[in-house]
Amino acid sequence: MAHIFAIANQKGGVGKTTTSVNLAAALGQLGQRTLLVDLDPQGNATMGSGIDKRAIERSVYHVLVGLAGIPETRLRLDAAGYDMLPANRDLAGAEVELVNLDQREVRLKQALAAYTHDYDLILIDCPPSLSLLTLNGLCAAQGVIIPMQCEYYALEGLSDLVNTIRKVHANFNRDLKIIGLLRVMFDTRNVLGQQVSLQLEEHFGEKVFKTVVPRNVRLAEAPSHGLPGVLFDPTAKGPQAYLAFARELATRVSLIKTAEAPP
Ligand code: ADP
Ligand code: MG
Repeated sequence: MAHIFAIANQKGGVGKTTTSVNLAAALGQLGQRTLLVDLDPQGNATMGSGIDKRAIERSVYHVLVGLAGIPETRLRLDAAGYDMLPANRDLAGAEVELVNLDQREVRLKQALAAYTHDYDLILIDCPPSLSLLTLNGLCAAQGVIIPMQCEYYALEGLSDLVNTIRKVHANFNRDLKIIGLLRVMFDTRNVLGQQVSLQLEEHFGEKVFKTVVPRNVRLAEAPSHGLPGVLFDPTAKGPQAYLAFARELATRVSLIKTAEAPP
């Protein structure tokens, strides 16, 4: 049975997609069978994985509204090392159509149910909202990974997200928990960033991942080459951090025993 994690934060541009794509590729390199679900109509995780979102026949939209299943929708990405349920603008329509469907918040969970044995991990890249799409992500998952920038308003946004996760836990998904907070786009020269980072550690303790992802231009350049940063430039600081994060996560959820790099 796969561990299913939603990568969520209702703010846009905080590094959800960069985290999803690089984590999926890094886990693939650790030998973990990984599926990445793009749940954002912007399709950035799809494009960043080297798939032309305009050319796909079926997407996660078709899965959510019941027009297609997982086998005929997932794509195997040999170069990237993971499987993908792609998305494009079609998915924006799902939001409206889902409202009228039965069990609208658990459509993704139900669709994935028969295929969780195919994977060690399933990662869900959520859109920047607390919408019905995100709710589907949170209902399908057992855990949430929250990427965040260490800036002044980050903590405020975080309490909204934590409240939402609590509500989903209480009303829909008793399995849901926060796996951890990942500090991304970190700038060591920024004093405020360091203060917010310390506050996070004080407040959330063990829930803050040890790995910190620095701001690194190679991570931002990689999507235009259709590759996750960890494959585009594995030796750069940002990709290195995501490789370390994958090992930390895999150790935390007991997929691998030590935090050491594979030989
Ligand atoms: P979200 O999915 O939360 O909207 P993205 O992952 O798309 O956020 O990131 C927003 C922008 O920041 C993108 O242009 C991305 O390339 C860039 N970015 C993300 N993480 C980093 C990083 N660690 N260093 C530099 N740029 C980054
Ligand atoms: Mg995104």
